[in-house]
Amino acid sequence: MISKTIYLDYNATTPVDPRVLDVMLPYFTEKFGNASSNTHPYGWDAEEAVDQSREQIADLIGAKPNELTFTSGATEAINLALQGYCQANRQLGNHLITCQTEHKAVLDTCQQLEKQGFEITYLPVDRSGNIHIEELEACITQQTILASFMLANNETGVVHPLKKISAITRKHGIILMTDATQAVGKLDLNFRELGVDLAAFSAHKIYGPKGVGALYVSRKSKPGIRPQLFGGGQESRLRPGTLNVPGIVGFGKACEIILSELEKDSIRWSELRAMLENELRDVEGVIINGADSERIPNTINLSIENIDGGKLIRSLKNLAVSQGSACTSTIIEPSHVLTSMGLPDELALSSVRISMGRFTTAQEVKAAIEAIRQVTTTLRLSTP
Ligand SMILES: *Cc1c(COP(=O)(O)O)cnc(C)c1O
Repeated sequence: MISKTIYLDYNATTPVDPRVLDVMLPYFTEKFGNASSNTHPYGWDAEEAVDQSREQIADLIGAKPNELTFTSGATEAINLALQGYCQANRQLGNHLITCQTEHKAVLDTCQQLEKQGFEITYLPVDRSGNIHIEELEACITQQTILASFMLANNETGVVHPLKKISAITRKHGIILMTDATQAVGKLDLNFRELGVDLAAFSAHKIYGPKGVGALYVSRKSKPGIRPQLFGGGQESRLRPGTLNVPGIVGFGKACEIILSELEKDSIRWSELRAMLENELRDVEGVIINGADSERIPNTINLSIENIDGGKLIRSLKNLAVSQGSACTSTIIEPSHVLTSMGLPDELALSSVRISMGRFTTAQEVKAAIEAIRQVTTTLRLSTP
C-alpha cells in the first residue's frame, strides 16, 4: 500500500539516507557511551563523534562549531531562541516583530510570549508571500528587541530577503532570529553573511533522523539566552541533558552529504519543478502560489479553483502530498500561510503542496502531473 504511494512530502519529513543510517548504527550498540563521561574511552569516543558532527554541521551553514547547540529539533530550538532571548533581555524592551506566514513553532511560541507580557507585531505579506521591508522598519520602536523571519516558507517555499532584513535589524540594534528549517539543505547558506544572530533547523528535514536539531547562536553578537531546561552542564548549560549521540552523528553526516550534493540536487529539483509547473499551468483554474517570488527549488504550492478541497486530497490518494501544513492536518482549516497571502478560504482549502527530495524521480513527477490533471477534470465534472 505504502509503496504504491508516491512520496512528495519532503517538507514534512525525509527518509534517513542509508549513508546516514550506516554511520549512526554503531552509536546505538558498541559505541554507546555518554558524551559527558570523561573518565573512559566510551565517553571519549562519543564526545569525539559529537565534536565531528558539530564541525560537519557548522561547515554547511557558515558557522563555527561552538556556535551550535543541539536540541531535540527545530521546534525546541525556536522555543529556546525566542523565549530564551526575550526572558533574558526583558529589561531592554518588550516588543517583537515577526510575520503572519511563520511556522506554528514560531507563532505559538509568540503567543506564549504575549502571555508573558511581550507585544508582537505580525507583519502581513503580499499576494506573492513577501513582506514589505519598509513596513518592517516602520514598526520598530524603542521597545523592539527581536525580529523573527523564517528563511524559507514550508508551505510555499517563498524565501524571505534575510540579508536586507538583517541590514535593518543591525542598524536598529535588534536581534534577528530565523527559522531556517526549510532552507538548510535546499539553499547555499552562510549564516554569518546573512547577518542572523539566531537560527533554528532540524535533522529530519535533511535526511537525518527525527528528534535532533540545532540552534545557531552567533558568537559575534552573542545574544544572551536563558535556558529553558535545567539539570546538567551539557551544551554550555544552554541545553542540559544527555546528548542524543546517534542522532547527532546522523545530523552531521546528513550535512556532510548535502555539502557535496546540494548543487546537483537543486539543479535537478529546479528542472523537475519547471516541468511540473509548465504542464499544470495549462490546466484551467490552476494557480501556483508564490510563483513570482524567490523560492526553494523543491516546493510547489498550487490551488485549484472550483474544486472541493477534501475531495481533491482524497482523489490524490496515490500521492503523498500535503494540504496546508502537516502539523495541523487533523483539523481541516484553510492554511494560515495562504490566507495571509490573500487567498479566499475555499481556494486555500483546495490547495496542494508538492515537495520533492533527494529520491524523487522524473517518473514520479510525471505521475503526479497526470494524477492532478485527471483529478481536476473529474472533480470539476462532478461539481455543479
Ligand atoms: C518542520 C518545521 C519545523 C519543526 O521542526 P521539528 O524539528 O519537527 O520540530 C519548524 N519550522 C519549519 C519551517 C518546519 O518546516
